[in-house]
Amino acid sequence: MPRKSNNILFQYAPKCEDCNVCEEIIPSGDLEVIYGDHIHFNCFFGFYDVLCDKRHLLIAAEEYMDEKLKPKTSVSLEDIDFPGGFNLKISDNDVTKIREHLSLVDGRFNTFVYLNK
Ligand SMILES: [Zn+2]
Repeated sequence: MPRKSNNILFQYAPKCEDCNVCEEIIPSGDLEVIYGDHIHFNCFFGFYDVLCDKRHLLIAAEEYMDEKLKPKTSVSLEDIDFPGGFNLKISDNDVTKIREHLSLVDGRFNTFVYLNK
């Protein structure tokens, strides 16, 4: 059943949170997923099949101004396909790990499909 559209943010947990899937603690500094709630990286991909547009997959970054001069603290996976000088807050290794877990959709579909496994 399709879920409400929402962005998915990947970041290192700024503080301890409970994972919404397994209800265990996510230690601060661990790679976590924000999708409405805080979710362990592995729990997220164990619980959802993610098929979505790269524009809605966000990586935490140092604050910068977007083209409309609004402060932003994340960059979409689409944006970082192009050289842009973003200071990501996530290591290249983890960005690669994120990409490997995603079924990315090119322009043909713009809708989200999240399926509970
Ligand atoms: Zn978990």
